[in-house]
Parts: sequence; C-alpha cells; structure tokens
Amino acid sequence: MHILVTNDDGVDAPGLLALTQAMRALGDVTVVAPHQNQSAVGHRKTLSEPIRAWEVHLDDGTPATAITGSPADCVALALLGLIERPIDMVASGINNGPNLSRDVTYSGTVTAAMEAVIEDVPAFAVSLDSRERGADYTRAAEAALLIAQRIAEHGLPPLTLLNVNVPIGPVKGVQITRQGRRKYVDELIKRLDPRGRPYYWIGGEFPTGDHSEEGADLWAVANGYISVTPITMEMTNYAALDTIKGWGW
Ligand code: MN
Repeated sequence: MHILVTNDDGVDAPGLLALTQAMRALGDVTVVAPHQNQSAVGHRKTLSEPIRAWEVHLDDGTPATAITGSPADCVALALLGLIERPIDMVASGINNGPNLSRDVTYSGTVTAAMEAVIEDVPAFAVSLDSRERGADYTRAAEAALLIAQRIAEHGLPPLTLLNVNVPIGPVKGVQITRQGRRKYVDELIKRLDPRGRPYYWIGGEFPTGDHSEEGADLWAVANGYISVTPITMEMTNYAALDTIKGWGW
C-alpha cells in the first residue's frame, strides 16, 4: 500500500506530521503538501502560473515535497507523475479545525480528497474539532488509521470520499453521518487603505450550526463521536431534474 499524504494547513503543520506517522502503520507514505497555509482555498487548480516544488523534511526527518500550489494541486501533481510510484490511497489532514456540513467545498483538506476520487483513487479527509495551535492530534491520528484500514479493506464507492471529523476530548465511538446544517456568520468589514481607497475583509465569528440534528456530522462531533460522512462528487440534483425540465424550454 502506497499512501499519499497532503493537507491544507501547509507542510509545517503538526497535523500533517501526525497523519504521516499514523499512515506508516498501513504502508509506505509519500508527502506532498502546500508550502504555506492554503486553508479555505477550495478546489483550486493552478493553471495560469507555474507550480514550484522542492524537497523539505518534516520535524521527524521524513522527506516531503513542498509545492506552491493548492491542496488539490498537490494531489494532481502527484497523480500526474511528480510521484512515480502508483498511489493507492490519499489521506488529507489532519486539519486544525473542523470541516463540517457546507465547509467541504471551501476546505482545502476536503478538496484534496475530492481531487483524488475524481481520478479514481480512494481518499479521505480528516479534521480535528479544535483550532488551538497546540492541539493534540493523537486521537485524530488513531481515527485516521482506523479509517484508512477500513478503506483498504472495503474500498469506496465511485466518486466518493470519506470526510472525517474528530472531536476533542474522549471519543465515544464512530457515527456514519450525513452533512448537517452549517450556519455561517460572516461579516463584511470595510476599511480604508492609506490612499483612502476601501478594501474588504470577510470577518465575523467562526461558523456554528444545528448540533441537535441526530445523524448529522455537526451533531456527532458535538456529542463526542468521530463523524464519518461519505461525500460524493456526483452533484447532480436528480430530484430537481424533472422540475426544471418542466420550466417550458
Ligand atoms: Mn486548514
């Protein structure tokens, strides 16, 4: 088994090291990660500028490749031949902070896994429900190994990745979940630059959501469970097809 490990927090992130070390229990590990934080870049494919790549070492000495592109670029480059040996599975994370509900298409952690499943390589994304800098990734790393073992054993349906979120504190078990209802509380902040021209920040608090909806990812993590959500890249809304066909085209 040859596992590609990537992330969106950047090659220096402790979550990447924790995931790399965990995956070694299952096979050989190759690391390709963004050279700096690429959180919330979404499923970006870099086509209009060069992508630089160079060798670095993780804190435990593991060789890794840092690139200037996005998390999805890391996977694309690896699968397109940057890494010569065929890749059997892609593991993305461990993200510092949860990726729940509608976070999935913003998240570089999850979109890296999306890039893999588009290319028919089984993949999962794993995130820790803590945004603390010194967060303990031990449980999330254990969860990642469990998930990877299950995927190795059972495979995954086509175009499907597993989005895994690990609570902080004691873990009660695993819940297989659906996407819950995220609530974004973004706020537009307008300021003036030294020339008097306006510029903008998307600010506000971290997103919240409905934690009471049993069976949803938000509910599982809030209640101390590892949340495992199968996410498909088949995004057609089949229920809406007939309705929209009936709009009198
Ligand atoms: Mn991140």
